[in-house]
Amino acid sequence: MVADVYTKKTKELCEKAKLYEFRSTIKKIFTEILDSGCKYGIVDIAYRTAIERSSDSGRIIRLKIEKNEPPIWALWKLLHEYGHYQSGEKKPGDKTMDREVLAWKYAEADVKKYPDLIPYIKDFYNRRDYCLESYRRNGY
Ligand SMILES: [Zn+2]
Repeated sequence: MVADVYTKKTKELCEKAKLYEFRSTIKKIFTEILDSGCKYGIVDIAYRTAIERSSDSGRIIRLKIEKNEPPIWALWKLLHEYGHYQSGEKKPGDKTMDREVLAWKYAEADVKKYPDLIPYIKDFYNRRDYCLESYRRNGY
């Protein structure tokens, strides 16, 4: 039997990011992401985590697993990029900082949907605040 795409993507992320204990939640997250029409793939060292236009004009989340980061950050980054997808395409005049805040709001709502993730929400907020602060520092 060939594993379905949700199972395949879940297994890959659990193994590469060492997030085995969140397997069932990750499968739910991928089901939501892929069913929304968003594409997803893990990228290697040459790339960075981002959401980009894919070859067929859809959008694709490219997730880079950083070996020196806490494993759960991979989930926060995934949900943040999915937050960008849910926010819609950038419009002229949109401010980068507003777009970042909005993407994190979507991510926060997603985290709160999954009981497995609730115990880690403080870590999520730390990561969010760290990212927003670095944007602020860089003048966005
Ligand atoms: Zn962002």
